[in-house]
Amino acid sequence: MTNAGPISITPIVVADLHVEGEMMPVCVHVIDHPDGRILVDTGMTKMHSAVVAAFDPRLYPLSEQDFDIAAIDIVVNTHLHADHCGGNHLFAGRPIHVQRRELDDARGQEDYTIPEWVDAPGLNYVAVDGELELLPGVRLVPAPGHTPGSQVVVVDTGARPEVICGDTAVWFGELDDPQTEGQRLIRALDPEKVWLAHVHQPWRPDSGSALA
Ligand SMILES: [Zn+2]
Repeated sequence: MTNAGPISITPIVVADLHVEGEMMPVCVHVIDHPDGRILVDTGMTKMHSAVVAAFDPRLYPLSEQDFDIAAIDIVVNTHLHADHCGGNHLFAGRPIHVQRRELDDARGQEDYTIPEWVDAPGLNYVAVDGELELLPGVRLVPAPGHTPGSQVVVVDTGARPEVICGDTAVWFGELDDPQTEGQRLIRALDPEKVWLAHVHQPWRPDSGSALA
């Protein structure tokens, strides 16, 4: 066993979407690990008519931020909806880990995503079947619900894990009162924090809305 050492998670806002009159951020997450730097989801870097019509987005692409794209060793997609994979093209040649089910669905189903963003030139997908330890203390875990092929990233940062959940929960209420297999799985991990893609702050079990 390697000594994992300190592992940290940093959210980066790469877009704002307009959803039902509210602004909703699109966050990606960097995991700094002694053995490498991991990026979870890639946001969007350009407009597309389908996305503009749905979300009227404001974009802050990683490629236009003070962000070292070359320093990313490994990419993970929680799932392949357009707002999570639109920056994949920036990481040609780097391994991009996604559940095989998700990749198959994104390539095979109409209106699932923006196909040319998924299969941009030079991308190197690693199709994952089930759980995978990416680096010591960093695990990919399938979390069906938002999409059948969604996965979350479970990170051992301390006594209890942190979870980067993509859209397995889109808002806090979905973790306060879990309904899907993926949401229940996250709660069963007894996480210290859960990082959502569309909320700035992490969810914590003790910061729940106490509606019960
Ligand atoms: Zn999303």
